[in-house]
Amino acid sequence: MPKVAQVIVDIAHSQVDRVFDYALGALCPVPGSRVKVPFGRTQTEGYVVALASETQVPQDKLRPITAILDDAPVIAPALIDLAFWMQRHYHCLLAEALRLMLPPGLRGERIKPKQALFAALAVGEQAALELARGLARRAPRQAQALLALIERGQVLPAAALEKEIPGAREALRALQKKGAVVLRQLEVGRGAYQDLKMEAAQVQPQLSAGQAGCADAIMRGVEGHSGVYLLHGVTGSGKTEVYFACLSRVLQEGRTAILLVPEISLTPQMVARFRARFGAQAAVLHSRLSLGERFDEWWRIRTGQARVAIGARSAIFAPVEQLGLVIIDEEHESSYRAENAPRYDAVEVAARRAQKEGATLVLGSATPSLERYAAARDGRISLLELPERIGGRALPAVQVADMREELARGNRSLFSRALAVRLKGCMARGEQAILFVNRRGHSSFVSCRSCGYVMECPNCAVSMSYHTHPERMVCHYCGHTASVPQLCPECGSRYIKYFGAGTQQVEKALREMLPQARVLRMDLDTTKTKGAHVEILEAFERGEADILIGTQMVTKGLDYPNVTLVGVLAADITLNIPDYRSPERTFQLITQVAGRAGRADLSGQVVIQTYSPEHYAIALAARQDYKAFFEREMRARKACQYPPFAVFARALCSAGQQDEAMRAAKGLQKFIARYMQQHFPQWEGCCLASHVQMAPLSKIKNEYRAQLLLRIAKNDKMKYALEYLQVAFEQWQAQEKWKGHAYF
Ligand code: ADP
Ligand code: ZN
Ligand code: ZN
Repeated sequence: MPKVAQVIVDIAHSQVDRVFDYALGALCPVPGSRVKVPFGRTQTEGYVVALASETQVPQDKLRPITAILDDAPVIAPALIDLAFWMQRHYHCLLAEALRLMLPPGLRGERIKPKQALFAALAVGEQAALELARGLARRAPRQAQALLALIERGQVLPAAALEKEIPGAREALRALQKKGAVVLRQLEVGRGAYQDLKMEAAQVQPQLSAGQAGCADAIMRGVEGHSGVYLLHGVTGSGKTEVYFACLSRVLQEGRTAILLVPEISLTPQMVARFRARFGAQAAVLHSRLSLGERFDEWWRIRTGQARVAIGARSAIFAPVEQLGLVIIDEEHESSYRAENAPRYDAVEVAARRAQKEGATLVLGSATPSLERYAAARDGRISLLELPERIGGRALPAVQVADMREELARGNRSLFSRALAVRLKGCMARGEQAILFVNRRGHSSFVSCRSCGYVMECPNCAVSMSYHTHPERMVCHYCGHTASVPQLCPECGSRYIKYFGAGTQQVEKALREMLPQARVLRMDLDTTKTKGAHVEILEAFERGEADILIGTQMVTKGLDYPNVTLVGVLAADITLNIPDYRSPERTFQLITQVAGRAGRADLSGQVVIQTYSPEHYAIALAARQDYKAFFEREMRARKACQYPPFAVFARALCSAGQQDEAMRAAKGLQKFIARYMQQHFPQWEGCCLASHVQMAPLSKIKNEYRAQLLLRIAKNDKMKYALEYLQVAFEQWQAQEKWKGHAYF
């Protein structure tokens, strides 16, 4: 018999992992419920995280719960369990994990959805039509309102009618008196996605044999309440249709589902297709929505009105019950990993959630991460493949343009001759093109041609980016801005200029080359306002522009039938980032962008501009040969003992001074070595490398960051090695009373 409730209070601000015990008395709250409890001299709100039959608190100190605040638990019990798992697995605070599961915007507010007035016909359509005719002269507004209800059917919000027909509310009241209309206060979503164009209810395509095979395999998993599948399908192979088919079958069976997409604000097409398909059963979780809108979507899921949720990373915490299926689209995307506390990997969390709740997990990608494909090949997860595009369409023809050769031939422009010719041809045929500009590189940095000085942010020690309109230098990490230097601060030379090209330079050069072309640009600058990216993409879809220039934003899931040409400028920038995953990232990026071309009846062409055409990541991406790349890259990883043949463990020590941070990291390194010698002698065979250096981003927001990087072999002892490592780390933290923060 539980006697005690473990309650966590002030969850929004809690910095300690303190759970307080309270006596249950006659109350029996379920874990996840909000309760009112005495705290010090006041009453406060808390969440019950567990019930227990024993407590360390002496009987006379144990205070009772004052009241239970909700009828049903706010946090579903399964999610409480997940929070405890995250606390153990990611070594985060329980409060941090729980915060991810709370309704958005909840801070002492009552949990209450917004209500609004809705109208519906109370008489048959024929009768309503006759009434409308009769009223057309005398009361035109009433007639209009009736017609709107007839035409669009069923239930309409009064506010929406009011927008079209000023005075509609009064008209509806009058119609209510006549008995023609009923008015009700109903719960509403706060107009999430109101302005997003909904595609007319789509006809569902007949699945191809390949798609049907995949869907059936996944559904066998769903019926068996288990299974992890990797769906590897080339771009345009119809993965999304497989997802949708499975989702609707899961809903038909009375269960629920979650669909994760990398960055939901960048995939308006997917969201529109999703809403058109699942209507009121669908909830969209989206960080760009207002808090009220987010709350409403959350509420619709929590109360079971919506049974399938789509969203980015954090939608994995959607409060669905009876979970049948979790789908993660583009599983290789790094955005599934949260970089701020609590640091978690949504794919891992999904796997845990699916396993605990008896659901099936599907990971989809045209370019699966190496680790995942290796797991599928070894049979640890099930591999499903869609090797061909829908309708037997060809993958786009890819041409690699060697920019060194272009220069040698006197072409100093941003565009290779191959790309220029194809752009012109594309315009002439009235087709559309996408130009992808690799942003995260030194492409738009200012450097001195005389001494090599690079302008960096004084707070962050990363290069600042050059912007025109207005002409400024901007740091993409902290937003710091500075004027563009006229003279080199190091050597005084006048030859200090921006290097390479950002989106704005590409736009300028393009306008010079093709003055008649209509150009849209999608980058950080043009998408600052809410909804701006959707507007740009929709304008492009409507054919209001010929060429879309964009950064990484244009690589994701876009599907435009009229796009026949894709140009990749400076493909090698990703290749030069000092990271062992650079070839993989480059391969993924190029394959994904190339996949945007020729998805419908028109065939596609791709031009990749590069200074290193011989690199295997570029050559194999040009052939869109995932398997060859996988084999090649696995050999390289094995030779160097990189993941998936090893794992990296990283501890960051940050401090106000650089040497202080370095000292801390070196101290930690020594401590670990000593600790392992005493407690885990097998460490020698496990630890492949251990070194201390400044972190790649060595200074962020005025904090210096040093890192200890450990590489640990993937063998049967790895699990223990990591556990010992964690203990060693915690002991070091306790012993050193290290005030900066460090984490693995
Ligand atoms: P992926 O997600 O693999 O890139 P999509 O699911 O977006 O591919 O499908 C690519 C295109 O093919 C889309 O325009 C989609 O509507 C269409 N499509 C998908 N499956 C079918 C099918 N079975 N029959 C006809 N068209 C299809
Ligand atoms: Zn200089
Ligand atoms: Zn900065």
